[in-house]
Amino acid sequence: MAARIVIGLVMTVAAFAVAGRRVWWLRRLAGTGQPAPERFDYARSHLATDLKTQLTEVFGQRKLLKWSVPGAAHALTFWGFIILLLTIIEAYGALFSRTFSIPGIGTWPVIGFLEDLFAVAVLVGLTTFAIIRVRSNPAARGRASRFLGSHTRAAWLVLGMIFLVIATLLMYRGAQINTGVFPYHHGAFASQLVGHWLHPLGYGTNAVLEAVFILAQLGVVLAFLVIVVYSKHLHIGLAPLNILFSRRPDALGALEPMRSNGKVLDFEEADPDTDVFGLGKIEDFTWKGLLDMATCTECGRCQSQCPAWATGKPLSPKQVILDLRDHAFAKAPYLLAASEEARAALPEAAKQEAERPLVGGPDVHGVIDPDVLWSCTNCGACVEECPVDIEHIDHIDGMRRHQVLIESAFPVEAAGMLKNLENKGDPWGMGETRRAEWMTELDFEVPVVDGKIGDDVEYLFWVGCAGALEDRARKTTKAIATLLHTAGVKFAVLGPAETCTGDPARRMGNEFVFSMLAQQNVETLNETGVRKVVASCPHCFNTIANEYPQLGGNYEVIHHTQLLARLVAEGRLKPVSPVEEKLTYHDPCFLGRHNKVFSPPREILEQVPGVSATEMHRCKERGFCCGAGGARMWMEERIGQRINTDRIEEALALEPDTISTACPFCLVMLGDAVSAKKGSGEAKDSLEVVDVAQLLARSVRPADDKPRRA
Ligand code: SF4
Ligand code: SF4
Repeated sequence: MAARIVIGLVMTVAAFAVAGRRVWWLRRLAGTGQPAPERFDYARSHLATDLKTQLTEVFGQRKLLKWSVPGAAHALTFWGFIILLLTIIEAYGALFSRTFSIPGIGTWPVIGFLEDLFAVAVLVGLTTFAIIRVRSNPAARGRASRFLGSHTRAAWLVLGMIFLVIATLLMYRGAQINTGVFPYHHGAFASQLVGHWLHPLGYGTNAVLEAVFILAQLGVVLAFLVIVVYSKHLHIGLAPLNILFSRRPDALGALEPMRSNGKVLDFEEADPDTDVFGLGKIEDFTWKGLLDMATCTECGRCQSQCPAWATGKPLSPKQVILDLRDHAFAKAPYLLAASEEARAALPEAAKQEAERPLVGGPDVHGVIDPDVLWSCTNCGACVEECPVDIEHIDHIDGMRRHQVLIESAFPVEAAGMLKNLENKGDPWGMGETRRAEWMTELDFEVPVVDGKIGDDVEYLFWVGCAGALEDRARKTTKAIATLLHTAGVKFAVLGPAETCTGDPARRMGNEFVFSMLAQQNVETLNETGVRKVVASCPHCFNTIANEYPQLGGNYEVIHHTQLLARLVAEGRLKPVSPVEEKLTYHDPCFLGRHNKVFSPPREILEQVPGVSATEMHRCKERGFCCGAGGARMWMEERIGQRINTDRIEEALALEPDTISTACPFCLVMLGDAVSAKKGSGEAKDSLEVVDVAQLLARSVRPADDKPRRA
């Protein structure tokens, strides 16, 4: 008995010392990140307002369960380990007293049953994980495997360790039954089965097995503890923390403002010597950014949904996080060194790691390749999927900010767009006077706000650059205006006083140009006294609704599909003329995933007589990007298949007459891909890409009772 106590305690002290050292090191490393005081506000507000969401995410495994089979396996394992904490207490108790039972509940058959039930559940989960890993073997499936790039050997080691935890548990409990010291007389069905198998060995052998497997159980659990803190399984401890400090409701919608030393950066007062401009080195990340890196489970869910990865580009959101994490860990000796002398004394490899540029090509051994950085469309699929709430877009756009503002290093073809935004207020450089042209093509007058908005005007219609200046998007704009006019909605536009919201500049990383445009727009809007805005472009919608509040612009903003769906539901718009078309709807990322507007466009289509709508496989939360977001609209797509082509091929498989969407940029990207397919004979000549508003306008009988074709 004394020997087993000594061995058990020595193992425990040694494991906690090794694990504790690592945890202290991780804590110190997180401390080298930038401060992020806002994260404590987020955490406080989560605890106050959405504790339920937190609990659903962590204990309900909400995001994981979206992937039914692996999600269920993970939930079984997670809950198994929660319940099996009781068996660890029992094993420690048995070190000191063979007949130990947990005071109060330790002999209840239901507890014995639950412990065994979850031990078996963990084995079922393990088997499922093993099958998934074999079937998704990266060596066989290449880029199609979500595990490509993950540390698969470590994952197998952990699966083996979990198996040993359960195996040693059932062995010592089975032996305990045969030596008469097991605390549960009924309920522990799996332990009883193992006890039945061991029974023929006799009391003496079972007594030895009991002692050996109690120590083996504690040894495996303690080894598991050490492996966890040295591997990707850190997420077991870090995931609840990461979720607690994450943005809410998620890291979609708005981009965070640029912060330096824990404060929002003011460009007019910024000091180039002391302020941080975007993410230029690993220590420019906040401690929350470093926590994101350490929390990644390497599950590859983000990678499997990324349109850049799916079309053969070098960007994998998982790999970005892993590369940053590996670099942070490798640079840690340099970051944690107490003095310059200590840094100078570091091994050559550590010094070289410290000098690696965060973004750079293979020639300079950069951590993140520029082709990786600039492939991102900001579509949000990675953020949506991540079970531990990692904020990929913030990190990618943070690095873009440094590249644009400090290094002036970005795809050259986007330079014209930035210059046009600065000088002319729109990405094409067409200038303010052209913004009013579309109104001259209507047979009614659209009021332009001059000074204060009229009391009788309900909505300011934010037209957007594409809606005012791009030929295909202008058709949508006219359709929306016509429908609002038909429904008797009082609306007005800013006309030439409207400028780009700044979204393409911000998503490119040019926060300076974004601030300039956004401040100008907020000033204009505030001067008009407008309260309600309807926007046709999801990027404008997202920026005005979610980002302008950062600059003092607070309005009630809706997308045109939301307003039109409501007008149809209220009977103010009556779709009566049949539109006999088979169509499919493409979810714009900044309307759907970023802002959760999935139903209104579909509700409109349902009300148009004759329309037969079929969903593409990748729709709603799992919608596939058109390739235009993240300012990719203004960059060449030189690597892999074009994203818009991939999307159109999915649509063409449904043989539609029409592809509908609700975003001017999707309209252009999908329209271009359809034109290319028509050229190659893969799409019929009559196939069109139109906005939902255009389809509705074709069906709604206007005031003069003639059907319109917008
Ligand atoms: S935002 Fe979209 S394109 Fe960018 S990394 Fe995430 S999934 Fe890929
Ligand atoms: S970032 Fe999130 S989704 Fe991607 S591999 Fe890591 S844990 Fe999984």
